Amino acid sequence: MSVNQQAHTGPPYGQPQPGYQGFQQPAYGGQSLPGAPQSQYGAYNGPVPGYQQPVPPQGYFPSLGFPSKGSPVSLNSDTSLAPNFIGSLRAPPTSGAPPPASGASHPSGHVAYSQFEHGDVQNGIPASAAPMQRPPASQPFLPGSAPTPVSQISTFQQYGPPPGSVQQLRNHMAGMTIGSTAASAPPPAGLGYASVPPVSGSVSAAGSGLYTPYSASQGAPPPSVSQPLPVAQPPFPGQTMPTQRLPAQLPGFTPPPPSTGVGPSSYPPTTGAPRPPAMPGPPLPGQTLAGPPSSQPNHVSSPPPPSTMAGLHPGPPMSGLHGPPPPTHPPQPGYQMQQNGSFGQMRGPQPNYGGAYPGAPNYGSPPGPPPPPKRLDPDSIPSPIQVIEDDRNNRGSEPFVTGVRGQVPPLVTTNFLVKDQGNASPRYIRCTSYNIPCTSDMAKQSQVPLAAVIKPLATLPPEETLPYLVDHGESGPVRCNRCKAYMCPFMQFIEGGRRFQCCFCSCVTEVPPHYFQHLDHTGKRVDFYDRPELSLGSYEFLATVDYCKNNKFPSPPAFIFMIDVSYNAVKSGLVRLICEELKSLLDYLPREGNMEESAIRVGFVTYNKVLHFYNVKSSLAQPQMMVVSDVADMFVPLLDGFLVNVNESRTVIASLLDQIPEMFADTRETETVFAPVIQAGLEALKAAECAGKLFIFHTSLPIAEAPGKLKNRDDRKLINTDKEKTLFQPQTSFYNNLAKDCVAQGCCVDLFLFPNQYLDVATLGVVPYQTGGSIYKYAYFQLETDQYRFLNDLRRDVQKEVGFDAVMRVRTSTGIRATDFFGAFYMSNTTDVEMAGLDCDKTITVEFKHDDKLSEDSGALLQCALLYTSCAGQRRLRIHNLSLNCCTQLADLYRNCETDTLINYLAKYAYRGVLSSPVKTVRDALINQCAQILACYRKNCASPSSAGQLILPECMKLLPVYLNCVLKSDVLQPGPEVTTDDRAYIRQLVTSMDVAETNVFFYPRLLPLTKADVDSDSLPAAIRNSEERLSKGDIYLLENGLNIFVWVGVNVQQSLIQNLFGVSSFSQISNALSTLPVLENPFSKKVRSVVDMLQGQRSRYMKLIIVKQEDKLEMLFKHFLVEDKSLSGGASYVDFLCHMHKEIRQLLS
Ligand SMILES: [Zn+2]
Repeated sequence: MSVNQQAHTGPPYGQPQPGYQGFQQPAYGGQSLPGAPQSQYGAYNGPVPGYQQPVPPQGYFPSLGFPSKGSPVSLNSDTSLAPNFIGSLRAPPTSGAPPPASGASHPSGHVAYSQFEHGDVQNGIPASAAPMQRPPASQPFLPGSAPTPVSQISTFQQYGPPPGSVQQLRNHMAGMTIGSTAASAPPPAGLGYASVPPVSGSVSAAGSGLYTPYSASQGAPPPSVSQPLPVAQPPFPGQTMPTQRLPAQLPGFTPPPPSTGVGPSSYPPTTGAPRPPAMPGPPLPGQTLAGPPSSQPNHVSSPPPPSTMAGLHPGPPMSGLHGPPPPTHPPQPGYQMQQNGSFGQMRGPQPNYGGAYPGAPNYGSPPGPPPPPKRLDPDSIPSPIQVIEDDRNNRGSEPFVTGVRGQVPPLVTTNFLVKDQGNASPRYIRCTSYNIPCTSDMAKQSQVPLAAVIKPLATLPPEETLPYLVDHGESGPVRCNRCKAYMCPFMQFIEGGRRFQCCFCSCVTEVPPHYFQHLDHTGKRVDFYDRPELSLGSYEFLATVDYCKNNKFPSPPAFIFMIDVSYNAVKSGLVRLICEELKSLLDYLPREGNMEESAIRVGFVTYNKVLHFYNVKSSLAQPQMMVVSDVADMFVPLLDGFLVNVNESRTVIASLLDQIPEMFADTRETETVFAPVIQAGLEALKAAECAGKLFIFHTSLPIAEAPGKLKNRDDRKLINTDKEKTLFQPQTSFYNNLAKDCVAQGCCVDLFLFPNQYLDVATLGVVPYQTGGSIYKYAYFQLETDQYRFLNDLRRDVQKEVGFDAVMRVRTSTGIRATDFFGAFYMSNTTDVEMAGLDCDKTITVEFKHDDKLSEDSGALLQCALLYTSCAGQRRLRIHNLSLNCCTQLADLYRNCETDTLINYLAKYAYRGVLSSPVKTVRDALINQCAQILACYRKNCASPSSAGQLILPECMKLLPVYLNCVLKSDVLQPGPEVTTDDRAYIRQLVTSMDVAETNVFFYPRLLPLTKADVDSDSLPAAIRNSEERLSKGDIYLLENGLNIFVWVGVNVQQSLIQNLFGVSSFSQISNALSTLPVLENPFSKKVRSVVDMLQGQRSRYMKLIIVKQEDKLEMLFKHFLVEDKSLSGGASYVDFLCHMHKEIRQLLS
């Protein structure tokens, strides 16, 4: 059948969209155009009668010369000002800001959006006569080189880097030690992993790689380097990839000789023996030993010094250890057979351990000064820095080729290129796991959430090819008859190519005649490599009119700039700044392809308690203002001349932007409205019958009498009470309803806030949030220090790629389905994510649940389809496909997880949870879930070992440290300096973040600037986020995606201070600087280039804050040293790891 048959294709999304039908406005009563086919956009049929002949309602003053009533008047009679104004513009807006490395936001990005202009072409000459716009070159798609997903051997799994080790942390009494085990592949022979420095357990840390504890406690030393390693028994019958345990770095603590008969074979640990108190325990004497700082504890691939395997003590001396000297028993036969992986961890239950606690006789601690508090050696616990660096080294050099199902991509912190060979790039979709359990029981058992973080319009680096646009003409994209999935590489052609079987629902659909093509001997269509939708993971379809509201192709979108002109906005210089900026910025509106000028029309509104609309029609000599003071029933007082083409109305717009600051220069009006502003923009877009974006610049709590009026309800006393959630909830449902109307119209709202006090972000943010818009907040905005940041954000925001009036649906193959969604959007049903606007930075996180069994053979498939209107008004579908493996062994799940994505999901899940549950409940649930995840691994995948040992899956060894960062984030555990608005703001920001953004947001990047190589382009190597890593003689940079701190130690050389800040001493450094001075010396240049590079990587311009050591601002800075204990009570990494271990043990016992 023809895919164009409306009856069968139905709505593109296959089901009714209540959002468009439930539109309540009388003028939009869903009247259909006679004869128009029924579509999901039926409610948009017909012109809007109410706006054909606007009758000024009450309160409407046509063309009011501000502020007097009357007929339209010129705001400024001096027309001579206007003509050349635009000509004297500043440099292009991007010039002031380093363009993102990816070129995301500058105009050229839009040029590049025309895929077929690219010289970098992937496929061969289009074989069909269909007007498929593909370039006639052929590059990467050598036939046969890209495996077709359907033909893949289902069991094939490609692991990027060689499987690493499993981190183990062992609890010795109250202490902990770390070990590593190989999770899958056979380890290098005899690799002892002793490179992980010993952990100072509760007791002490021993020398690097000290491998004695086993022998110490068990009387059996570890095997020699060359001995085969014990192989863990498979957790499941039939498991073919045994987990192998490597002797890992061992506890530095060497316990007393065994006296309880707890031997290597005594797994599980002796029950009934007194267990040490759970961590964190009391301090232990003398445990100050640590491995050499230079050792790389988590660099699991580096072989240990051979000596560390000897069971001797080659490491640092055991000074400070008050226990008996470690015994050095010779290896005992039979050790190999234990297979319990219990390398030295068996001493938990030993009574002798009582000595580990203060006063315990066994330890022989001399009475007297209390022992220093016990702590785990931070060098011995999994290091984010090391993991990031290892991934960079292992995976940064090769392109990531997406032809293979279930591949785990490199980390977001690794620079890598992607070659699309049938699966969507990880820039578009990242998953918590690339190998998902076959059954829901398994999934529940593991507690690993199955989620995909999707960024449908992600910006690609210039080296990568944008999705090709496929045009099937009037018939539109080929789809499955039943589930409406779009043609994709996983569809199976049968019967000589006359039909295809859907990879999602198995339904067989006839190939439309125009799409028919013969199959080759392998069953593959001969035009396979010529059609993006058959060979690539991501591509676009040109949508037909069936995919348009009202069965009518959309008009180009409009941008409406809505400027608060109340007292604060004017006085701070903000109004003038915005107007000045717009004069140049309007020349950089998004353009499509090679279009000469943007198709986007613009309009202008100013407001305080009333709204002022401006007629900037090109034929006018001067702009005209119309005031609407009846804000209770908002309407747009003019149609013609409100939304205009920038080029046509250039002089009038310039004149307006010149006049606005003058008109309101003497305003005394302090009160503002807010909801009517959005309503006005919405009505304007409705009247113009287009989608668009409102840019609202707002300064205060809207207390003026109007719909959506708010009261100040901030109350910090609610923190840590059951009512804390109300701080995150909007104070009225008014904005939710407004948001729904906005989404229905495709009216996206971007909100720029400039508060000097509480303005209720939780409520004001509702509409931006639900329409897919952005919020920017500049508290205590000061022109001098903040304008640069604001202007950069504004420029990027105005220029960035955005799809309007968007609907996204994720289809899945049988057995799983999308059940939950996180992000900035609106949902009117359970499957369709609706966004008035979706820009290149926004992500939608989708969670999946089982509804049936999956098969290892067929795996699981996702297809994300985004229907949107481009900036030129073209209706398109962007399709991303991803195939995942399925497993019957939990170990496969844990081997193919991605912790950064997991954290992204967990943070969003928790941040939504605070809307309905007490924050403590949310925190506890997070901890519990992660403990269950790790306990399940321990129970089912790790080789048997003592309960005293913490064993982390290699892919999740950073889960505890990152989880702790989420738990102590401002939303879940606010410090005293964090305002209610900050928390609401962060909560909304995080909800739309991609994985790279959450990664750096929760675990900021800390760079020693003074270690930077001024002659190279590279960044200095990052260090861990802990105060003890900072040296007084150095300067550091810390960034988290929102802020950049430059921390200066008190002992930094004067010459460095002079070079960077242009002052002669530490005390002269001003922490009021918002940018670094431009100085002509290598160090200054290097640091500024580092800052610029980082700014270019982030979607928002980060605020630069100079922090001097021991200065009061240092408190703020320390808040971001996330491995340390926080002022708000957040645990240090070490303490949290101990806590997690305790939780896991409780689950296992
Ligand atoms: Zn189907």
